[in-house]
Amino acid sequence: MPKYIFVSGGVISGLGKGITTASLGAILQSKGFSVSAMKVDMYLNIDAGTIRPSEHGEVFVTEDGLESDQDLGNYERFLGRPLHRVNYMTTGQVYAEVIRKERAFEYEGEDVEAIPHLTDEIIRRFKSAVKGSDVVIVELGGTVGEYQNGIFFEATRILKMREPKNVVQIHVAYLPVPGNLGEMKTKPVQQSVRMLNSMGIQPDFVVGRSEEPMDDKRKERIALFCNVEKEAVISNPNVSSIYEIPLILEAQRLGDMVVKKLGLKARASDMKPWKDLVAKIKKPTEDLKIAVVGKYFTTGGFVLSDVYISVIEAIKHACWAVGRKPALTWIDAMEIEKNGTDRLKGFDGIVVPGGFGSRGIEGIIAAIGFARTNKIPYYGLCYGMQLACVEFARNVVGLKGANTTEIDTKAKHPVIHVMPDQEKKMLKKDYGASMRLGSWDCKVAPGTHSRKAYGAEIVSERHRHRYEFNNDYRDQLVAAGLVVAGTTPDGHLVEIIELKDHPFFVAVQFHPEFQSSPLKPHPLFLAFAKAAAK
Ligand code: GLN
Repeated sequence: MPKYIFVSGGVISGLGKGITTASLGAILQSKGFSVSAMKVDMYLNIDAGTIRPSEHGEVFVTEDGLESDQDLGNYERFLGRPLHRVNYMTTGQVYAEVIRKERAFEYEGEDVEAIPHLTDEIIRRFKSAVKGSDVVIVELGGTVGEYQNGIFFEATRILKMREPKNVVQIHVAYLPVPGNLGEMKTKPVQQSVRMLNSMGIQPDFVVGRSEEPMDDKRKERIALFCNVEKEAVISNPNVSSIYEIPLILEAQRLGDMVVKKLGLKARASDMKPWKDLVAKIKKPTEDLKIAVVGKYFTTGGFVLSDVYISVIEAIKHACWAVGRKPALTWIDAMEIEKNGTDRLKGFDGIVVPGGFGSRGIEGIIAAIGFARTNKIPYYGLCYGMQLACVEFARNVVGLKGANTTEIDTKAKHPVIHVMPDQEKKMLKKDYGASMRLGSWDCKVAPGTHSRKAYGAEIVSERHRHRYEFNNDYRDQLVAAGLVVAGTTPDGHLVEIIELKDHPFFVAVQFHPEFQSSPLKPHPLFLAFAKAAAK
């Protein structure tokens, strides 16, 4: 019988429910279960592809080309397995499907209602997500009590009613320590659980998120007022690395208790890989100073690094693996545009991640030029590859006015131009899920940094772009020292470029960051970290 674990949030958003979900997944996996995970977002958007990154954070791309919420990235990193379309659900998807069925007369004249028709569609999707696994952990987006996500909570209640032995409810809520009191308060958590109760849901476990660990007294209070056993109140305090959380939850036996509640046979867990990883992370070593030059770092007065979360995590994975401490600095491309490249002095390596549009672009190009001429290890991802081609065309080949047509549709030298099918789609205003998305094979050329790193000729990497290298310029750029290190298997589309006479200058059209995990860092990130460490 497939099992379902629902993780809801309370008191405030941004609690790290996703990390709790992913960590529990890692624990269950270590006990020998096959684990799936699912994120439920309450937006009407069909996917996250059309949401501004400064609004919603990174768009994570799955193998099968879904543009999803960044939490799927957390799940993949902790579970070390790919997830797919079935692992992501939005309100928009649910409504679109129910309305489609209604128009197709699939309800055969029934009055189509929120309950049971929306809830049944939601439950059908929970079931698709668990197919092939022993258990699915479903993270319910938002916090309890919001009007927008109520229907999902209702669906979990109905599923529990139908299959009481197969459903566990975990509520993650925040314990504040008001500055003037200096004492951890449990009332917001109690009220949050009351709100769940009023929807007919009794949590089996309450996970308290807090700055400091929760003491026994607080656990007792929550147990008493929230109607759970004291052992089922779990402390999840702030820690220096998210990869410690599986160990923290396991130390409180959350995994064993969940397994028991679901009627599964508990097995001893092997947490050694996580213990080794945390030891590596905590070992004091020298900093590896990496500059990440991007454009989405600030919104109003706030700095957002969530937009590049997979890139940041992948860099960290690689730094730890080479025995160095990741020291990342976000540099806003606009700052370089205004004040020049001085800011980039003293870094061991420079990364330019993906992006769209024209803001800050000249700053990014200047940063790439700085890395090239000063022989600083450079690693470009997607836009970071396209703009490296522009920089090379302009400053090495001498093609004045070289650009991507994303910035300048009438560029004199369009070294990066729109993919033919993309042009048609954009004319039709077909913007949803219409980029070149998901996994594609890439043929890696012998004798390159990339080939050495991968140790394989054919690799599969995930994509998300509308523009591509313009082959009209291939011979000219190659003659000037650009190395085409990877292409689609037919040789047509340029996927990786490198530079001759540079210690490490590798830029890729794809997003390798989506396939890096702490227990298995991505080979190209690893090669970059090694070069930077040198
Ligand atoms: N804007 C570029 C394109 O659409 C790069 C996309 C990206 O970096 N993800 O091709």
